[in-house]
Amino acid sequence: MYLIDYVSNWDEKEGQEASARHMSWIRELYDYMTPYVSKSPRTAFLNYKDLDLGRVRINGGATFVDPRIWGRMYFKNNFLRLVKTKSNVDPENFFGGEQTIPPTIENGTGERIQELEYREATSSPSKALAQQHNFLQCVASHSNQSMPQLYVPKSPSFLSVLQSSIYNLRFTSPATPKPLFIITPNHESQIRAVVVCSKKHGLKITVRSGGHDFEGLSYRANVPFVLIDLVNFRTIDVNIKDNSAWVQAGATLGEVYYRISEKSPVHGFPAGACPTVGVGGHISGGGFRLMVRKYCMAADHVLDARIINAKGEILDRKTMGEDLFWAIRGGGVTSFGVLLAWKIELVPVPLLHILYLPWQKP
Ligand SMILES: Cc1cc2nc3c(=O)[nH]c(=O)nc-3n(C[C@H](O)[C@H](O)[C@H](O)COP(=O)(O)OP(=O)(O)OC[C@H]3O[C@@H](n4cnc5c(N)ncnc54)[C@H](O)[C@@H]3O)c2cc1C
Repeated sequence: MYLIDYVSNWDEKEGQEASARHMSWIRELYDYMTPYVSKSPRTAFLNYKDLDLGRVRINGGATFVDPRIWGRMYFKNNFLRLVKTKSNVDPENFFGGEQTIPPTIENGTGERIQELEYREATSSPSKALAQQHNFLQCVASHSNQSMPQLYVPKSPSFLSVLQSSIYNLRFTSPATPKPLFIITPNHESQIRAVVVCSKKHGLKITVRSGGHDFEGLSYRANVPFVLIDLVNFRTIDVNIKDNSAWVQAGATLGEVYYRISEKSPVHGFPAGACPTVGVGGHISGGGFRLMVRKYCMAADHVLDARIINAKGEILDRKTMGEDLFWAIRGGGVTSFGVLLAWKIELVPVPLLHILYLPWQKP
């Protein structure tokens, strides 16, 4: 049995026209391969997100595909349990996006899935300005420590902060919708304030850890939104004595591996190979590559987690309960809250590694 990744890379210098060409090429390849791959149904991996599988309705448009179709591609029968968990913890779908787990209309079998809809911003500029002003006042009054660092589109460094961890350069184009604010918190209470105030003032949030989302969903949305960028949330606290580490959501995989190796040459963590991927998105989507055969997925080695839910409560494994703790380890934390940190289990690795480096003669 084989898993197939379809990948098309191109240079940004080729311009926007090239994006359309390459996207169309890869879609053709996908269609071409369809008769040759298993289709009962075709499955997909959340970490390699694909909006072509379907998304929630946008402005009543035709992009709506029943979430049960793409939900089962990603999660098979676990989809209904995820829907149930979502209905319990976020029935109003505050943490809703183009391809997040939907809550049910009724809390029951999970067979009736709500038809969610995204609406483009329609409010007048003066109303939007007042909304932003009220939002800022709210954040200031709810932040216990101090006001978080905040960037508005007029800030000189707005674009550089926004683009600092955009991995998919298709989304650096001027046509990509921009956030109303970028907030780079350095304390949990500041994130809590943003969640509470966004909800109160009808703004969506997107959360970015490493920015490697293939569809750019950590830093773009089709509704007015606030971007919480966890670039300052990357403390890693390794405890060799009990084989564990607390890792804040904005840390990258490379940083995690490096901090572990500083403390011990015979401990490791089984996750992805790309050092710049963020642990926030990666582990919550499963996370695999290095050592997958021996230790399975990164999400299999999570001992505890801290998240902020839609009510602005800070929860750990004990207070969130086992259903939610199960859901955020593979079901994508985006649908359920803001992940603050993971407590991960370290695994034994041999002192001597054999590494094959492919090398081509010049
Ligand atoms: C070059 C490259 C190599 C990769 N290699 C692998 C690999 O080897 N194995 C593998 O399994 N995957 C791999 N991936 C996929 C990668 O794991 C996913 O794209 C993952 O979601 C990226 O996490 P991130 O935090 O960097 O991304 P982000 O873009 O920051 O976030 C991804 C998603 O998670 C949400 N999110 C992020 N942080 C939080 C948070 N703190 N709270 C709530 N929601 C959050 C975002 O809103 C977004 O929806 C790779 C991707 C790239 C681009």
